Amino acid sequence: MKVVFMHIFKVIFLAGATLFAAGVVGAEADQGPTVMARAADVDAAAAMLRDQALNKNVAYAWLTQLTTRFGARMAGSASERKAAEWAAGSLESMGFDTIKIEPFDLQLWQRGAESAEILSPFPQKLVVTALGGSRATPPEGVDAEATLFATYQEFLDSKVDLKGRIVVVLQPTARTQTGVGYGLNSGSVRSRGPLEAKQRGASAFLMRALGTETHRFAHAGATQFQTKEGIPSLAMSPPDAEAMLRMKVLQDKGEAGPLRIKIVSTPRFLGGGQSQNVIAEFRGMEKPDEIITIGGHLDSWDLGTGAIDDGSGMAITLAAVKTMIDAGKRPRRTIRVVLYGAEEVSQPDNKGLSGAQAYADRHVNPATRVSSETHILTAESDFGADVIYAASMPVASQTDFNARLGKILYPLKVYVDPKPADGGGPDTLPSQRQGVPAMDLRQNGMDYFDTHHTADDVLERIEPAKLDQNVAAWTATLWLVANGDVTFNPQVRK
Ligand SMILES: [Zn+2]
Repeated sequence: MKVVFMHIFKVIFLAGATLFAAGVVGAEADQGPTVMARAADVDAAAAMLRDQALNKNVAYAWLTQLTTRFGARMAGSASERKAAEWAAGSLESMGFDTIKIEPFDLQLWQRGAESAEILSPFPQKLVVTALGGSRATPPEGVDAEATLFATYQEFLDSKVDLKGRIVVVLQPTARTQTGVGYGLNSGSVRSRGPLEAKQRGASAFLMRALGTETHRFAHAGATQFQTKEGIPSLAMSPPDAEAMLRMKVLQDKGEAGPLRIKIVSTPRFLGGGQSQNVIAEFRGMEKPDEIITIGGHLDSWDLGTGAIDDGSGMAITLAAVKTMIDAGKRPRRTIRVVLYGAEEVSQPDNKGLSGAQAYADRHVNPATRVSSETHILTAESDFGADVIYAASMPVASQTDFNARLGKILYPLKVYVDPKPADGGGPDTLPSQRQGVPAMDLRQNGMDYFDTHHTADDVLERIEPAKLDQNVAAWTATLWLVANGDVTFNPQVRK
């Protein structure tokens, strides 16, 4: 007996020490041998589910239906609402336990007619699109002299008189695996550029679209909401921006006179409306009140069909849960798929992420929530349809959990990053602000900004096998989190 006790004590101590060192003390850490035996079972099931997810095309089939039936799904539109209702029905038929649609308020902006052309000295049409939340020109348009800036900083530093001018910023977007090149430009040129130009007296703002390719598509995207103040603000295709850079060289050499541009853009502010989140649960068997949220956003820009952004993210995450349902495997904790409304659009007073904020207010924030659930982890898929290459968990590496996860993900060519996740995607932010830890299954974003927010974001840009690799990685990772005691967050330690 004594030997057995000693043995048990040793296992308890070692298991406890490992978990404690990792900052992930679990409820059953005092049941060492059970935990270890169960971990082996969980790992085996995760590997089995990973393999079952491959070659199934579940995500692709769902995405095909979504994009065919609803096309573009602009936030607050009838199309977004109908897509939400259809998605709820599809989740129910997949075998999710509870499905809810939760509406929330939204200020609406709608694109109008849009066109632009260089009138002189080199007359030609431009491919443009209005920035979301921007103001209209008069119906006949704005016709003014343009001042060209090669970079955003050059514009900010400029002392040139811009009164009445069309400010044109030609800064390109760097192609990177992580999307950092886009992030820098969307947070500055696109978000703040128009109002900076307005403050300097400009009549309109035209920027190089935030795309990494040289196809002639304009990329949409939100700028700060302009009901209070603003100017017509548009993005032009990268080849048009390249042409303007060449014109600038001629101007600088004195070989060309001033550039005159005409812009027509007639978007409208429609006032108050509604969007909605779709929430579907696969209830946990032992700990149903411990919630893991995953998902993507249901709205898209209005130019393409939002197949990549973010039809893919929804399809990947819901297919991960469907893999478990189809295999007859129910986790201990609850996995909740949230299809967020209105991720893309800006709102007055620099608010945005309205769907994710509504979710966090209703389900996470202790001051406003309607339930007393514990959110263990939040994650989303909103970075395209290319393969996952790394997993970042909320706590540092060297943990038992990360080692187990690495063994299961390596066959998919996914490594576990030793560094903790520095974010989990835009729609996880409101929950993160309430202390919910985020994980990040990082997709290869090298080509993501080639078609992002363009008319070319369509099903044809997607390879089904890559979606399946995503689903397999999500399924295996979720199974590990949903069946362990890992909490990631000291605040929810029991
Ligand atoms: Zn997105």
